[in-house]
Amino acid sequence: MQVPFIDLKLQYRTIADEISAAITPVLTNADFILGKELDLFEQEFAAYCGVRCAVGVDSGLSALELCLRALDIGPGHEVITASHTFIATVSAISFAGARPVLVDINPDTYTLDHRQLEAAVTTRTKAIIPVHLYGQPADMNEIVRVAVKYGLHVVEDACQSHGAIYHGRRVGGLGTAACFSFYPGKNLGAYGDGGMLVTNNIDLADKVRMLRNYGQSDKYRHVFLAYNRRLDTIQAAVLRVKLRHLDAWNRNRVNLAKLYDELLKGSGDVTLPPCAPGRTHVYHLYVIRHPNRNRLQAHLKKQGIETGLHYPVPVHLQPCYSGFGWLPGSLPVSEEAARSVLSLPMFPEMTYEQVEYVCNAITEFNAVGLDVTAISQD
Ligand SMILES: *Cc1c(COP(=O)(O)O)cnc(C)c1O
Repeated sequence: MQVPFIDLKLQYRTIADEISAAITPVLTNADFILGKELDLFEQEFAAYCGVRCAVGVDSGLSALELCLRALDIGPGHEVITASHTFIATVSAISFAGARPVLVDINPDTYTLDHRQLEAAVTTRTKAIIPVHLYGQPADMNEIVRVAVKYGLHVVEDACQSHGAIYHGRRVGGLGTAACFSFYPGKNLGAYGDGGMLVTNNIDLADKVRMLRNYGQSDKYRHVFLAYNRRLDTIQAAVLRVKLRHLDAWNRNRVNLAKLYDELLKGSGDVTLPPCAPGRTHVYHLYVIRHPNRNRLQAHLKKQGIETGLHYPVPVHLQPCYSGFGWLPGSLPVSEEAARSVLSLPMFPEMTYEQVEYVCNAITEFNAVGLDVTAISQD
């Protein structure tokens, strides 16, 4: 059996007719830039997240960067986030001109450890970016409490958690603003790049609308210099179709995760993905930990099973940030996660037979222990 990590071609076949019907009017009307479908998608996505405003942009990175700029966060300011995340969370802070301050993660959720926040706050701190990593909301109550105490903005990085719920509320409305990515492999993915800022703050949304469109307030009136960071109308048309399927797809992910949990629970060295109380995890990724991660990954590959590493090097140890003087050992929980995490195949169209096959291969690896044929790989 072959088990891909994700199968976007299979998903397309299930909605191909709906997609064609949605895209064709955009083509026949040549309504490509800031078109009607974008307006509708923004309204629908805002309603889905339970917030007033949504602004489509060209990526999750742009959503994060423009959000910080619109909050007047830049040179001389600091923004606190987790090191165990995708680079864009942190590079967005740098692109806005501010200084990223990286803290460790909570080992129980793999999200920003709120117990480290107060020690990281300085007079220059302007915002905290909690990352709802792998599809699980961060410890928002505790994070917002610190933010309120010090007068900081909270910008959710919700790029991996479309539809996740925290104590009855969807992510996206839990802070000052939230940023989503529609990269094709995300739970809600475009057929290309895309992103969205959502917020209840109308002035913030208006400013991001200008920042995505050459700083225009009215046609050919440019209030400040800004890039072109718009979301294409065609992508919005695709995303409107896919938004209607998102909850069902997320339910499939949850059911697949339950089966994984069940089949792996007594399985030797495997640490199952944690899910803290009061949250609906939407399993963008199903991430286990294993002390022999590299060897397990090689074993699964031999069995036709594709896996991923999210992420093998924490941001504080990336070459692009070597100038910051962040040292190995400084964020031990993040560094341990980088060594031991393994993302198993997870996509809404995956079958229970495929999950069973993956789990059998892992159980077999654990039973054999140190597979002598693979030892040389580390
Ligand atoms: C995907 C992702 C981003 C960036 O989104 P792009 O659309 O690829 O720019 C940012 N943060 C996290 C946690 C992500 O997973």
